[in-house]
Amino acid sequence: MNETPPRVRAEIDLAAVRGNVRALRERAPRSELMAVVKADAYGHGAVPCARAALRAGATWLGTATPQEALALRAAGITTRTLCWLWTPGGPWREAIEADVDVAVSGMWALDEVLAAARASGRTARVQLKADTGLGRNGCQPADWPELVQAALAAQSEGAIKVTGLWSHFACADEPGHPSIAAQLALFRDMVGYAEKEGLEPEVRHIANSPATLTLPDSHFDLVRTGLAVYGVSPAPELGTSAQLGLRPAMSLKASVALVKGVPAGHGVSYGHHYVTGHETNLALIPAGYADGIPRHASGRGPVLVGGKVRTAAGRVAMDQFVVDLGADTVRTGDEAVLFGPGDAGEPTAEDWARAAGTIAYEIVTRIGPRVPRVYLNEDPGSEATS
Ligand SMILES: *Cc1c(COP(=O)(O)O)cnc(C)c1O
Repeated sequence: MNETPPRVRAEIDLAAVRGNVRALRERAPRSELMAVVKADAYGHGAVPCARAALRAGATWLGTATPQEALALRAAGITTRTLCWLWTPGGPWREAIEADVDVAVSGMWALDEVLAAARASGRTARVQLKADTGLGRNGCQPADWPELVQAALAAQSEGAIKVTGLWSHFACADEPGHPSIAAQLALFRDMVGYAEKEGLEPEVRHIANSPATLTLPDSHFDLVRTGLAVYGVSPAPELGTSAQLGLRPAMSLKASVALVKGVPAGHGVSYGHHYVTGHETNLALIPAGYADGIPRHASGRGPVLVGGKVRTAAGRVAMDQFVVDLGADTVRTGDEAVLFGPGDAGEPTAEDWARAAGTIAYEIVTRIGPRVPRVYLNEDPGSEATS
């Protein structure tokens, strides 16, 4: 191992990922669990997190792009994988040949899947996606009969097998929102129509993390959990990670790059939006927006350094920002914790989300490629596996 402490690093606790998957399976005991590992597992590292989730009982993986699904296959992961964000051109054939289940939201996609399946001589596994109200991807109810009938015809030809029927919520993070019941009712109708016409999907699914945590009626055959696998609460209104039985897997840490005394009235960082009120000590934190630290958290982002939570003084720059230690001091090379599980006094990703006016999803997912990921607790040892 390289003994040089990195400038900044994201420690990923794989025991937390495994524990979160087990906790989520207990919440949805009759459903299979898909670990959503899109966007490099929300910044945590797709391959190590996928392996950890599978060890803890996940039976499916989910990705947005086909490249993400193919990268799992290239790493030797053969678990059932659904990939849902397609654009014309695919690559459908590569996905079919890699045994990836492909999502289809409209006729254009079904046509391209059919052509690729015929060319490869393989049966494509297709999951039809219904737009039950999100208004994003998925097939509108008015267009559903045409898509279902075309899928039935393709299935009887042997080109495809419809393995799933699914949808996605708009407001699952706002329990009681009227759209939730409306989407569930429409989902049941659209699934009912497809099954009456003769489709026999292996899995019907609509629940993301917040629905998995709050809405047992939405679990169906499979739940698609992303953020909760990484231990972060999907919304402050749903409770903290601890209240939800989850543990944040990512801790973002930096080595203090410089400590210095400055006089009163000294401007700090670009634009001088912070000016020291008195003689004080400043510490330089060597992480900035190029690393995914939101510039919107300028003047607000919290950091545990020298035993106290301090606040970013002035602008977050591309590579660094500054905290005002007041009368305290720390040493160059001391550890600064930007966020972590929160139980050692450090801020959480939710705290950074509040400071930046965004959601915790964005905080962890945008931690950039310049930040090395360091994996902890890779070996489950004697931990229960299911
Ligand atoms: C990202 C995503 C999920 C996972 O959402 P979480 O709220 O992170 O659990 C599930 N399904 C689809 C279609 C998604 O895009």
